[in-house]
Amino acid sequence: MTRSFHAGQPFDTSEADIAAALEEVSIPTLLLSLVHITGDPRFIRDYQQAGLFLNEVQGFMSEEDKARARAEALPVIAAYRDRGCPIPDPLSPELVREMLDWAACEHVGEDNLPLVLEELDLDGVDPRRPARLDDTGDFHVIVIGAGESGVLAGVRLMQAGIRFTVLEKNSGPGGTWWENRYPGARVDVANHFYCYSFEPSNHWDHFFAEQPELRQYFADVVARHDLGPHIRFNTEVRSARWDGDLWTIDTGNETFTANAVITAVGQLNRPSVPDFPGAETFAGPSFHSAAWDHSVDVTGKRVALIGAGASGFQIAPAIADKVEHLTVFQRTAQWMFPNPMYHEPVADGVRWAMEHLPYYGRWYRFLLLWPGADKGLDAAIVDPDYADQTNAVSEINAIARIMFTDWITTQVGDDPDLLAKVLPDYPATGKRTLQDNGSWLSTLKRDHVDLIRTPIERITPTGVVAADGTEYAADIIVYATGFRATEVLFPITVTGRDGADLHEVWGRRPYAYRSIAVPGFPNFFMTYGPGAHLAHGGSLILNSELQMRYINSCLQHLITEKLRTLEPLPEPTAEWHRRSQEEIRKTVWAHPSITHSYFKNADGEIHTVSPWRLSTYHAAVYEPVWSDFREE
Ligand code: NAP
Repeated sequence: MTRSFHAGQPFDTSEADIAAALEEVSIPTLLLSLVHITGDPRFIRDYQQAGLFLNEVQGFMSEEDKARARAEALPVIAAYRDRGCPIPDPLSPELVREMLDWAACEHVGEDNLPLVLEELDLDGVDPRRPARLDDTGDFHVIVIGAGESGVLAGVRLMQAGIRFTVLEKNSGPGGTWWENRYPGARVDVANHFYCYSFEPSNHWDHFFAEQPELRQYFADVVARHDLGPHIRFNTEVRSARWDGDLWTIDTGNETFTANAVITAVGQLNRPSVPDFPGAETFAGPSFHSAAWDHSVDVTGKRVALIGAGASGFQIAPAIADKVEHLTVFQRTAQWMFPNPMYHEPVADGVRWAMEHLPYYGRWYRFLLLWPGADKGLDAAIVDPDYADQTNAVSEINAIARIMFTDWITTQVGDDPDLLAKVLPDYPATGKRTLQDNGSWLSTLKRDHVDLIRTPIERITPTGVVAADGTEYAADIIVYATGFRATEVLFPITVTGRDGADLHEVWGRRPYAYRSIAVPGFPNFFMTYGPGAHLAHGGSLILNSELQMRYINSCLQHLITEKLRTLEPLPEPTAEWHRRSQEEIRKTVWAHPSITHSYFKNADGEIHTVSPWRLSTYHAAVYEPVWSDFREE
């Protein structure tokens, strides 16, 4: 039997070093691994987790239980080592089900099994890997973008044996993680889950990696899968046009032709800078967070930071020590929840366990997936019978509000003015909820940091003027004002059958069959398209993997059936959009009190966000239903 990296790599670690590692590991994950090593279910039956919460990987177990588990584990692991670390025998499906329920602290229903078993990949077969076609002829695919989904597309197309070229506007891979180099930039989905399922995850330095580490990760994946020769960097696509047989992709200097196009440009890529009157008169440097000008030294300077979303939230604590004064302009207060691991490095013992203990990394991934996935959706769904629809939309949403309020109040409750400014006035999770380890609010409490809630009226050569007439002097302005998230595929012109312009077809309401394809645009597939943004949890990499499997099935169908074109039919597409809209209107994200949110378009409608449970979407894109497609 070949050994997958999920099964753990053999080791000769000393007892003392194993014991030291066990001090640092997640005990529930350790116990699950012990079941694999021994085949003995007592390691879960003799212990109980007290609960599961996002990023709490110790199951709230007591210190006594954790110590008992470590003491039991040491001789078992040492004996396993002495046997030469054999590949554990597969466990029965019934036992795996029991382990899932134990790990989740609840029954993992039948509907979730296909998704979670795929993510666990206990067989080490990479279940989303496409079958390799023997003969794909001269079929050629253009992928636009080499961020996380474009790199993934490259890996999967290569595995399928389909010729492809990735066109990337930047000079390296990583997309968001290539571009966003602002101080403090880091991911807020745990990395042992926010990474490709088919790659080992024992290499992270941080549980929530900073940008350089993420950027390196994507470069490493490109290298490991030998994608380099297939990527054209510094090549920005301006338009894609269907000519009846092929797509022509134009960069301004060059054209490429392809049988099919996959867009992998993300939703949060094109900076949005508000058009404040006088902005062009500002005398000092000013730049968007995603285009941070590292030639500008903020040390000893007065910095105006406009925007307090995920980016502003990370920038303020990262630069506060250096600047003379920091003025943060926050239009809307943000809900946040505690994440004590947010800035923590991965301890050596955890890394050792990821590498050596059978399936430790897989179960750890599950502990991150499960509470962070559809649980967020539970708190986001409006309960029409819930009486108070102003402060909260359901009982569970009200509980989230109490918890988040508590977290904020314990930090700034002693400063009523600041508390009033930072407490949101809309239901919890109504906008993207931010993760916090206390650094944001402690930064706002510092003497040389001010938080301004008054709207911005204009910008002068020397600072920012608020609507009450106060001028806030600044040497540097940072626009952490987000992205043109609702303008899917902006600014690329996409022309389909009969000269139809995709942006004109969409207007302000982008839609796509299963978020992937649009009638009238043959052989055109999107990752992270309309309705694919995950506001309730999960990981975009997971979503991209599900979408790429589906897109590969479509490409293989085109090739093996010798079709010229494949596109979804209008009726199933309209039906998918109608159902998506019906569901999205039942969520807190659509709450009328939320006037500013990158989920909403200029009409206050939401077309970019997924309303679906991960398991529902997994089923919807598991394999294409060919009767929903027009084939030629
Ligand atoms: P964002 O969440 O859209 O936040 C933009 C900020 O700018 C908000 O505070 C917004 O206020 C403010 N703003 C926009 N236009 C304004 C105007 N005309 N006047 C005053 N304020 C204005 O953008 P972001 O912070 O760049 O984050 C975008 C997304 O990128 C995140 O939600 C996340 O998905 C991703 N991201 C993730 C991470 C991470 O993983 N840690 C880090 C950064 C970004 P309003 O709230 O009132 O609109």
